[in-house]
Amino acid sequence: MTSDTWGRVRGELLKSIGKNNFSAWIEPITFDALEDRTARFFVPTNFIGSWVSQNFGDLILRHLVSAGVGVDRIEFKVDPEAAARADNANARPSQPAAAETTAAAARLSDARPARTTALNPAYTFENFVVGKPNELAHAAARRVSEGEHVSFNPLFLYGGVGLGKTHLMHAIAWELSTSHPDMDILYLSAEQFMYRFVRALREQDTIGFKEMFRSVDVLMVDDVQFIAGKNSTQEEFFHTFNALVEMGKQIVISGDRAPVDMEGLDNRIASRLQCGLVVDLHPTDYELRLGILQQKADVQRAKTPGLTIAPGVLEFIAHRLSTDVRTLEGALTRLFAFADLIGSEITMDLTQECLSDLLRSADRKVTIDEIMKKTCEHYNIRQSDMIGPSRARNVARPRQMAMYLCKKLTTRSLPEIGRKFGKRDHTTILHGVRRIEELMATDSQIAEDAELLRRMLEA
Ligand code: ADP
Ligand code: MG
Repeated sequence: MTSDTWGRVRGELLKSIGKNNFSAWIEPITFDALEDRTARFFVPTNFIGSWVSQNFGDLILRHLVSAGVGVDRIEFKVDPEAAARADNANARPSQPAAAETTAAAARLSDARPARTTALNPAYTFENFVVGKPNELAHAAARRVSEGEHVSFNPLFLYGGVGLGKTHLMHAIAWELSTSHPDMDILYLSAEQFMYRFVRALREQDTIGFKEMFRSVDVLMVDDVQFIAGKNSTQEEFFHTFNALVEMGKQIVISGDRAPVDMEGLDNRIASRLQCGLVVDLHPTDYELRLGILQQKADVQRAKTPGLTIAPGVLEFIAHRLSTDVRTLEGALTRLFAFADLIGSEITMDLTQECLSDLLRSADRKVTIDEIMKKTCEHYNIRQSDMIGPSRARNVARPRQMAMYLCKKLTTRSLPEIGRKFGKRDHTTILHGVRRIEELMATDSQIAEDAELLRRMLEA
């Protein structure tokens, strides 16, 4: 089995167990090896291992088998090194190739003819905790959800993953469908928009497709970055968009970054988006995290009457995990499961044990600058050499080492790393990372350097 296959299986697992369970239980595990029809995985703690094995073991096995892996058993073992690597290497499930997803989604939509994807009943305004980082986005969403007149069109919500874009869009849809039952609201992801378009092309029913999309009162398209670079879909999207705006219909769109920063996004779409209201969801701050944790803990307490949480625990988590909301939810899900299992109060000790992997990775926030600095010191070269043009071996190799470490130890993307290294192209960074990986296998000095630097940076 390749890590690609595991990446695909992770994608399937995400679909079948939902994002919260996925981030609580599947994200922390890494594939190790397949031997004697046994798939071995590393887990950050024993608790996670036994929980995953009991609750998701069969499911994982089934998905592996249907992915064509010759496997009869799965095993989990603790490996702290792997835990540290895990949150860098596979923080997110890999995107399956476009052709495959097209087929899969066509099947999906065949089976479910509903126009709107099911809305999550938990994604309401009542359940949305408002704080400084999201107050503008929340206010704008509220305004649109009143549905009285179209005030800004489109509303474009953007921000990093797990910050509440989808939640707000569902909340608008819920609110509108309660206050205006006759209103025809269509919510779907940009990915689904594409699949439907592709299917309409295949079935030679683009007229039906156009009619359907042009007949709605409110159109909401989530994760528009998905269609960036997909030209015929963007073209169609642009026309749909214009037609609806002309008819005075409300449009709400979300994306993972500002329209101008979205590579491959049609300029006409980008400028259309700019014409409306563009608001971003900022990364969470301590108060918002605490508010969210308190709200989720209250909900859980209502469901589990015996549950008690020691004073200071939620504050501790809010302080130490400066992450997106989904990761926070995943941490709580795991904590509640743990407490339920051993039937005890959620104490500080229990929290530290149960969330040790998340806490560790939160501690280890190495920056690109630190990596450059330490690498220069180690190889005794100047910092200016890191970003300079010289290709001499004695600076090029350390530079590649630093690129490699940036990829492994930070969550920065290749283009972001490239910018830091004197505006180099992302392919140059990728080449550097690969080169070091190759050398590590053959050159023990390079492998030692990498290990030493990694340890120094993580200390
Ligand atoms: P995005 O679409 O931006 O990636 P989601 O809307 O899916 O993020 O949010 C991720 C998870 O975090 C969801 O379970 C959502 O309910 C929760 N969430 C995000 N922001 C908030 C908030 N402000 N209050 C309560 N829950 C939130
Ligand atoms: Mg989303």
